[in-house]
Amino acid sequence: MRTVDEMVDLFKARGYRMTPQRQCIFRILQDNTSHPTAESIYRAARKQVETISLQTVYRTLNELASVGEVLPLELGTGMARFDPNTDQETHHHAVCSVCGKVRDVFAEYQGVALPDALRPDFDVVAVQVVFKGVCSACQEASRTLRAMTSRQEHKAKAKMEVVG
Ligand SMILES: [Zn+2]
Ligand SMILES: [Zn+2]
Repeated sequence: MRTVDEMVDLFKARGYRMTPQRQCIFRILQDNTSHPTAESIYRAARKQVETISLQTVYRTLNELASVGEVLPLELGTGMARFDPNTDQETHHHAVCSVCGKVRDVFAEYQGVALPDALRPDFDVVAVQVVFKGVCSACQEASRTLRAMTSRQEHKAKAKMEVVG
């Protein structure tokens, strides 16, 4: 995504109305690597501009996507995510299936290609690789939970043995 000032000029040139609400959304997205949902942008924007609506956030995101300044992503987390980094050649994603956290993966996967049989009918524009797995924080949380559960089971067993 371009700088906030450049975005304002681009939107004006396209005849979009420039409002404090939209500028606020531009600022939130600038250098944002969290792959936010429309709702999380809305929550952050409301802290700065109280009069913003979720509808304005969606409309602005659609406009940004249509001029190629944000990349809408469907990563299987239940809600569309928006990425101001629109490089689809060397920029891919790793998604935690527990908490939905999305991380950027910077690598080129030139080996990924359509099977020959499909090639005449389909023109590939971009290849997006999505790695699905569990992030380190969620791995840690599940280890802690397992340890706690096994301690409790242990205690319960000991109690039963005493009673028995
Ligand atoms: Zn996670
Ligand atoms: Zn990304």
